[in-house]
Amino acid sequence: MANKRVLVKFSGEALAGEAGHGIDTKILKYIAQEIKTLVDAGIEVGIVIGGGNIIRGVTAAQDGIIKRTSGDYMGMLATVINGVAMQEACEHAGMQVRMQTAIKMEQIAEPYINRKATRHLEKGRVVIFAAGTGNPFFTTDTAATLRAVEIGAEVIIKATKVDGVYDKDPAKYPDAVKLPELTYDQALQDHIKVMDDTSIALAKDNSLPIIVCDMSKQGNLLDILNGNMSNCSIVK
Ligand code: UDP
Repeated sequence: MANKRVLVKFSGEALAGEAGHGIDTKILKYIAQEIKTLVDAGIEVGIVIGGGNIIRGVTAAQDGIIKRTSGDYMGMLATVINGVAMQEACEHAGMQVRMQTAIKMEQIAEPYINRKATRHLEKGRVVIFAAGTGNPFFTTDTAATLRAVEIGAEVIIKATKVDGVYDKDPAKYPDAVKLPELTYDQALQDHIKVMDDTSIALAKDNSLPIIVCDMSKQGNLLDILNGNMSNCSIVK
């Protein structure tokens, strides 16, 4: 197994299921099973989940009543709600899990302490990193990249709705072409939609490969980590 420690990022929207908002426990269960296949294969797994199924700062602040900074804190709190749910689903599936938050809320989760997180991972526990970076004006993609670098993950996997990076939006253009491999500079130049520039720049600075894959394809995460790159794109 080449990749021993990975960080998997799921968007908050992924948890919403057909309702389009809130948390669908069927999806939680599915994600937990996918994570379990990695843990069972001896891979150490960190998870970051977004908060878009509940609230995003930009959207909350759009009419000027809620300040952007407050909207962003609301968004970070949303990731904690999702994190608690994900923790439950992972435990339900038989894994050991710890959640750490970038903003202290010790009745709910441990505060983010890098050394502690690393120790949990070494013990085979899944670690969920919630509350983003703890700072407004960032995204959970950036938080995921930051945590991936901090814990020394070999790779960050962005588990999303598309099976890779395309030259244009595949939902809009049927002739969109998938790019199996691209450089950080290419990804930055093209402003690829699947990952924001801040997170790509951070990954580039730290030579952290970014894999983009379709989360709904069962077994995909383990396949990828076993070296089957046919259902994903890699930015490196
Ligand atoms: N957020 C933030 N700082 C961070 C991470 C997240 O302010 O470090 C806020 C921001 O408002 C964002 C929201 O939390 O819109 C939810 O995260 P995101 O939009 O990245 O979730 P996703 O799109 O992955 O569901």
